[in-house]
Amino acid sequence: MTHHITLILGDGIGPEVARAARRCVDATGEDIKWDEVEAGADLLERTGVLLPDAVVETIRRDKVAIKAPITTPVGTGFRSVNVHLRKVLDLYACLRPCKSYKGVRSRYDNIDLVVVRENTEDLYAGVEFEKGSDDVAELIRTIEKLSGSTIRKDSGISIKPISVTGTRRIVRFAFEYARANGRRKVTAVHKANIMKFSDGLFLEVAREVAKKYTDIEFEDRIVDNMCMQLVQKPELYDVLVLPNLYGDIVSDLCAGLAGGLGVAPGANIGDNCAVFEATHGSAPKYKGMNKVNPTALILSGVLMLRHINETGAADRLERAVAGVVAEGKYVTYDMKPNRDDPTAVGTSEMADAIIARMK
Ligand code: NAD
Repeated sequence: MTHHITLILGDGIGPEVARAARRCVDATGEDIKWDEVEAGADLLERTGVLLPDAVVETIRRDKVAIKAPITTPVGTGFRSVNVHLRKVLDLYACLRPCKSYKGVRSRYDNIDLVVVRENTEDLYAGVEFEKGSDDVAELIRTIEKLSGSTIRKDSGISIKPISVTGTRRIVRFAFEYARANGRRKVTAVHKANIMKFSDGLFLEVAREVAKKYTDIEFEDRIVDNMCMQLVQKPELYDVLVLPNLYGDIVSDLCAGLAGGLGVAPGANIGDNCAVFEATHGSAPKYKGMNKVNPTALILSGVLMLRHINETGAADRLERAVAGVVAEGKYVTYDMKPNRDDPTAVGTSEMADAIIARMK
């Protein structure tokens, strides 16, 4: 079966890791027709456009994309492409598997966690009121009238909406993912003891959804305790589902447990489209040097292959990545015990080694 996949080249190190990932996915032998498109700082410089509408339309048509990192321009008035794509395509679930691979330097060798982060609500909804504005003064008066509590006049305010609808779909997503991927447990993470009407609602809805998935264990943890437990006994946890802000923080914590940004894949998934991307950014200082680690985007390609039900190809590619990383010979500088190791290979050569392992 032919799969149409959008490949967004990105900027900074984006094009280098994108091409490495594309070659590795192609080497699985799957019939993939790539729609290669540009977005990001380089395009902005040439054309004045950061994210052409045509790119969004291509993703809508293909339904699946691999996206290389894109710089968030500072002070140009442009919003982050990443946030924009999540919003316009309603990619409400951020999926971050964090897994130990032999050969990756880390304090742990037994990490196998999947973080499912809600992507559209919470303090990231973008509803904010600036200190000193007329709006914030009016809001403070209204809040004081409604709640009877006082807020300092020199406050800025960010609103934290959490809905039944948003929570239901993210918790369902976590359970469906657990079921489809043979996982045993979902843990909902919250601060319901303090924020009763936002996190409390998240927990209540999560418990309700959990009742429909009797084959998967369910539990909940308060977010601060969760962080400590993840550091002390990560092996007790499996799939975590969290509102947006805690999800952002805990997914980086889990990526750190598994060995850091170079090996952390991810996906943003909605009901109609899915965009697969590395956790790391565009690392502009390494642009064009054929130096950085392509593993995170290649592993995002593995997630993409699973998403399109090409499980055999996904397993083959993941095994090849794991083999190359474990051998530690044809790996980039960041994976060598000494970062100045002259035997480190480039981005493209590491991809070559992964491809060679699949033959
Ligand atoms: P970054 O992840 O780009 O880089 C931080 C450092 O991590 C780099 O200097 C490098 O030392 C290391 N690093 C990152 N990726 C690596 C790789 N593949 N191999 C080896 N080392 C790697 O983070 P930043 O500097 O904070 O962000 C740079 C730009 O990227 C910003 O504009 C930011 O907004 C953007 N960004 C984009 C995405 C995305 O497109 N999804 C994600 C995060 C950051």
